[in-house]
Amino acid sequence: MRTPPVEPSRFASLWSDLAVIGRDRLRGGYSRHGFDDADLHLREWFTAQAQRRGLDVETDRNGNVWAWWGTPGAGAVVTGSHLDSVPGGGAFDGPLGVVSALLAVDELRVRGVRPTRPLAVACFTEEEGGRFGLACLGSRLMTGAVDADQVRRLHDGAGQTLAEAARRAGVDPAHMGPDPERVAMIGSFIELHVEQGRLLKSASPAGAPAAIGVGSEIVAHGRWRLSLTGEGNHAGTTVADDRHDPMIPAAATVLAARRAITARPGAVATVGRIQPVPGGTNVIASRVDVWLDARYLDGAATGELVDEIVAAVREEAALEGCALTVHRESMSDRVDFDPGLAMQLAEQLGAPIVPTGAGHDAGVLAAHVPSAMLFVRNPTGISHAPGEHAETADCITGVEALADALEVQLR
Ligand SMILES: [Zn+2]
Repeated sequence: MRTPPVEPSRFASLWSDLAVIGRDRLRGGYSRHGFDDADLHLREWFTAQAQRRGLDVETDRNGNVWAWWGTPGAGAVVTGSHLDSVPGGGAFDGPLGVVSALLAVDELRVRGVRPTRPLAVACFTEEEGGRFGLACLGSRLMTGAVDADQVRRLHDGAGQTLAEAARRAGVDPAHMGPDPERVAMIGSFIELHVEQGRLLKSASPAGAPAAIGVGSEIVAHGRWRLSLTGEGNHAGTTVADDRHDPMIPAAATVLAARRAITARPGAVATVGRIQPVPGGTNVIASRVDVWLDARYLDGAATGELVDEIVAAVREEAALEGCALTVHRESMSDRVDFDPGLAMQLAEQLGAPIVPTGAGHDAGVLAAHVPSAMLFVRNPTGISHAPGEHAETADCITGVEALADALEVQLR
């Protein structure tokens, strides 16, 4: 028998707790980054909410926070997401999955579910890579997908290393690294997330908009840093022929990225960050670092896309007398979520199956454990920006769908 719908006020209450944490007055939206003050505040909030529900909270060796219903052990059903954001990000990316997980636990209890296996709500460290530049940091460390020594040396914009930041947050950096026992405990992982596109407006098999969808795959995605070196000089006295201005090939990067994706339906490539050195209005830069984010089908296709962009930049750099070095900061190949689990959830929830171009902790875990994602409709498709939104009614539908999904997994 179906229980009454989840009260919107219960969602609103948790949501208003979060609304005041980590606001970015300069950019708008939220800036919450791994181990910073906002992140620590959010971790405290999560711990208090989990304890209020009688869940046992622990922080693992990589700073991921786990709240357990039942004794941690084999075959655990795990849900959750992340609490950090991109700089000036929206409210929903990450926290919606954590809030929904807590409310789903409440809902399972209202339904009288008695789990036959442990259930955990997990919050993964620095999913966005907004502070230290490496996305899905907590899940990658846990699964051994990234070298812990390399991670400890990562530093933020202010020069603080990840090791120092972790220590300040009470996480011993010396113990960071693969956690195979913990991964082995996970029987399945289901991450609920705000949709970061607009497929749910049209993806329903019946043609009607759908409040929630089930993830099929994450397309390949990576980040590259292009460092262009020229000759720093005076903006007022250096004539065109004498210039070796790295900003020229930097600009070419932006345009080449647009050309390359226009020729490939479904591909995306973005220059969202440029850093000129020294960065003065009346100075021709001596160096410009350009970060390129590219996402397309699989690893090979994404590689070709980036090669084409880099070739165009190299040509422009040569014409300007500048040098180019390319450093791949990260690359994640296409990830298919567990097809059996996705089919089962789609059938159980009557939800369409949709792909995504965004990376997620569920994508990292999918290589190790059956993983699935539930997406909640986002009316504008805007994400990683303050305009990110989901209607409360859709969020409630998401909580109920997550509770339905977990209930089946817990049997
Ligand atoms: Zn996210």
